[in-house]
Amino acid sequence: MKHYDVTIIGAGLAGLFLSKTLCDNDVRVLLVDRKQDLSKSIHTTGIFVRKTFEDFQFPAGTLGPPISHISLYSPALRKIELESSFEEFRVGRMGALYNSFLQDCLEGGVDFRCATAYRGAAEYKNQGRGSIVTLERNGVKETVETSVLVGADGACSNVAKDLGLDQNRHWIVGYEEVATGVPATGSPEIHCFLNNRLAPGYLAWISSDGEETHIGVGGYPSRFDPRSALKVFKQEIVPQIIETGKLKIVEKRGGKIPVGGVLKRIGNRRGLLVGDAAGAVSPLTAGGLDPCLRLSKFAAEIITRRICEDDPDRLLDFSGSMFRKKFATRLMMRLALNTARGQVALEAGCALLGTVPGLRLAKKIFFERASFPDIDLIGDFSQKVVSKNIGDSSPLMENR
Ligand SMILES: Cc1cc2nc3c(=O)[nH]c(=O)nc-3n(C[C@H](O)[C@H](O)[C@H](O)COP(=O)(O)OP(=O)(O)OC[C@H]3O[C@@H](n4cnc5c(N)ncnc54)[C@H](O)[C@@H]3O)c2cc1C
Repeated sequence: MKHYDVTIIGAGLAGLFLSKTLCDNDVRVLLVDRKQDLSKSIHTTGIFVRKTFEDFQFPAGTLGPPISHISLYSPALRKIELESSFEEFRVGRMGALYNSFLQDCLEGGVDFRCATAYRGAAEYKNQGRGSIVTLERNGVKETVETSVLVGADGACSNVAKDLGLDQNRHWIVGYEEVATGVPATGSPEIHCFLNNRLAPGYLAWISSDGEETHIGVGGYPSRFDPRSALKVFKQEIVPQIIETGKLKIVEKRGGKIPVGGVLKRIGNRRGLLVGDAAGAVSPLTAGGLDPCLRLSKFAAEIITRRICEDDPDRLLDFSGSMFRKKFATRLMMRLALNTARGQVALEAGCALLGTVPGLRLAKKIFFERASFPDIDLIGDFSQKVVSKNIGDSSPLMENR
């Protein structure tokens, strides 16, 4: 049986970025995904916020043109314009981004198994020393030994269940079509629609950066049917906003988005969770890409220590409790969004957003770096863990 330091299930943004960072630290990684081709069946619009592309490097050609303008619409299509002096958003070319990160992983020595499903994990014979993981490709089963098992397998994580960690219980669903052929009539823009019929508890959106257009709806699955809602949205509203004459649908994307906040128990002596599997999504905006990168970066530090020092207890430092406090306000605002069920209440809420304090709040939610999990939190936390454990901040690999 092959032995790996770390086995990562899921090659979405969280799993890829973690693999890439770990192989840079000389950790021996197996990365597994059930997809044959990572650029297919994508389930994100791919809107990155300023904070992310300011703090992380993106390979050339993987981000679309910058967007500084948001139009927010009430159910009656009353419009609130939000303009920033910064380049606030860029829509990722996600297929190209995943493939570029995968290429870095392969060049760094990561073993990658595509079209391979995770089937389960059992505790290794020496308690707490790791797991025996079962994988399956084309009906053929294989087992590998691993010191650390990572669940980067999305919102409904099987790894979380097998490791006895917390699992997501609250989510909304998103469904969208990606289109070409929409002429650029002005500067790139994101249009967001508050509408309890078409997007109960969240938003409908049109994001158009002059190259790619994304048209989608999101909301609580118990309160709407996303496919029918998207159809109505495209019939009733979209043609009023963008030129649809030459619109050509090239892709459909969708999936669950956990909105209950970062889970509490996301690590134990056998492994840990990152990305959607850890609930690392802003409960209010449902943005998960920035948290994916930040939590994976932090996970890489913890895992590298665990491997270098051969001490499974290192993984116990990876706890969701610290992050949860930061999500408290956003969780309350999510509750408020879920409570405002009628169109009339939503229209009144939008009228309030049009006032001076309302506009300030809207700009804070859409534009401020603080609207997503704070980098300092993770920086402080990892710094605290580092100093608590080794008394200084010497490079991780010095101990190996
Ligand atoms: C429609 C939609 C639009 C969104 N838009 C945005 C946005 O614009 N901006 C933003 O910040 N966030 C957005 N989000 C949220 C964001 O996309 C996610 O938080 C993020 O992509 C999660 O990445 P991940 O790597 O954790 O999970 P995923 O991208 O879900 O990756 C999980 C991977 O695990 C693999 N996998 C799962 N189970 C197994 C198994 N048993 N065996 C092997 N492999 C397995 C899957 O094939 C997949 O490749 C959106 C979400 C949705 C659904």
